[in-house]
This record gives sequence, C-alpha cells and structure tokens, in this order.
Amino acid sequence: MRLLIVEDEPDLLRALTRALREDGYAVDTAEDGDDARFKALECDYDAIVLDWMLPVMSGLEVLKALRAKKQTPVLMLTAKAAINHRIDGLNSGADDYLAKPFDINELRARIRALIRRSSGQARNQIVLGDVCVDTWSKTVTLSGQTVALTAREYALVEYLAVRRGKRVSRTELYEHLFDENEDSFSNLLDVRVSLVRKKLGADFIHTQRGQGYCIP
Ligand code: CA
Repeated sequence: MRLLIVEDEPDLLRALTRALREDGYAVDTAEDGDDARFKALECDYDAIVLDWMLPVMSGLEVLKALRAKKQTPVLMLTAKAAINHRIDGLNSGADDYLAKPFDINELRARIRALIRRSSGQARNQIVLGDVCVDTWSKTVTLSGQTVALTAREYALVEYLAVRRGKRVSRTELYEHLFDENEDSFSNLLDVRVSLVRKKLGADFIHTQRGQGYCIP
C-alpha cells in the first residue's frame, strides 16, 4: 500500500512518515499544495493524508482538484476543529478527517479503515487455504501459527490477498508497494516474493510469466 502524506510541519511530517513506514506502507511526501496536487494526480495512491493549511495551495483546493479526476481515499488533517471546516472538507469529497493534535495510533487505525473500505473488504480476515491474513492486526497465520513477516513482506501479501484470484502486474505492485525513493529497476520485488514463499509455501504466490503475480 502506498500513501502520500502532505504536511508542511517538518517534525510532524517526519514522525508520520516514520510511523507509517514501520507499518509497512510505502510513503511519498509533499510539503506544499502544488507538489501534493501534482503527485496525487500522477500516482494512484491507496490513501492520502492531507493537511488543510498548506503553503501555495490549501488542502481543500488540492482535494477539489483531485476529486475532479480521481476517487483516491483522503483523510484530512485540520488544526481547526471548527465544524464548518469539517463540513467543507466532507462536502468536497474528503473521506475522513482528524483534528490536530491527534494520537498517531488513531491516524494509523483510520488509514487502515479507509483502505479497507475503499477496497470493498467487509471483513478483517482473508482466509486463503491454510493461510489467514488479518488486515486489522496486520498479521498472517499458517495453520493457526503466526508467521513472522517483515512489514514490507506483509504489505505484499495483503495487496495480493485483497485481490485474490486476480493477476496483479509487476508495474502495479511497484507502484503500490514502493515509494518514490526506491529503485524500481532493481529486483526488490522478486526478493520479497521469494522470502514470502519460503515462509508461506512455494505455491502461495503464483508467478505469471512476464505478467505479474497472483494468489489463486
Ligand atoms: Ca499545515
């Protein structure tokens, strides 16, 4: 899952980026509205965290520009808990909002809920034969035993599990699992797939030659 975090306060941006990368998300960042609008339109993020008060262009203007083209889930951050801001944000197509200051664990939980809603998952658990993926606790079990996956390995498993039975192209995986600072020409993806197969079984992820990967 790849997120865009838009925040002009450097300390907060750093803290959010660190926490969300620990959760296994690929994270891109923007510090002003213009850069945010460009990235949000250019890349298909799984969710965007968008601060309201930004230099160059406000979060609300970014949201309006985005909604003219795309339905990417957006959680707005506002320093002003004012009711009219919340209404403006929700009317303009924000999916959720959080008033500053907020607890980072609440932000984590809301992002998870936002992504789950937008992918149409009603339940937290996806059962794939002997493997069970819990998208709420971000854990995977094999025959009832918890399997230790890194956050990035988990992200790959969840992305494919949510789309089980469908072929997911390498391009799509790169776009959703790696951030703007990672080299998409390296073999990061193949390495991650092979580590997951060692832990969950050689047949857990099928390779479709030249086309991508699939959990059947
Ligand atoms: Ca701000």
